[in-house]
Amino acid sequence: MEKRKASRPRPKATTPAHKHGKGRCVAILRKLSAYLDDELSGEICSDLRRHLGTCPNCEEFLTSLRQTVTLCRHQPAPALSSAERARMRANILRAARPR
Ligand SMILES: [Zn+2]
Repeated sequence: MEKRKASRPRPKATTPAHKHGKGRCVAILRKLSAYLDDELSGEICSDLRRHLGTCPNCEEFLTSLRQTVTLCRHQPAPALSSAERARMRANILRAARPR
């Protein structure tokens, strides 16, 4: 995998892996559904990938989420309203939130 120098200054380049139970994972997971929808900018994608590289829990979650999305896309998709999409995302986040 190629490494690209971040154009944005990073205050803590050597930050250890985040702790679960804090907001970091939830913030990441919140972006994951958009990531799967290809709605994120490349910069945020690389930020997510960096997190996923240090976080087995989130990576595992992304894998299962991606499988779910793939399954859904194989179905003749019913038209989802934006309200339904928002509700699904909220459910995903609730399921992923550490207790
Ligand atoms: Zn995480």
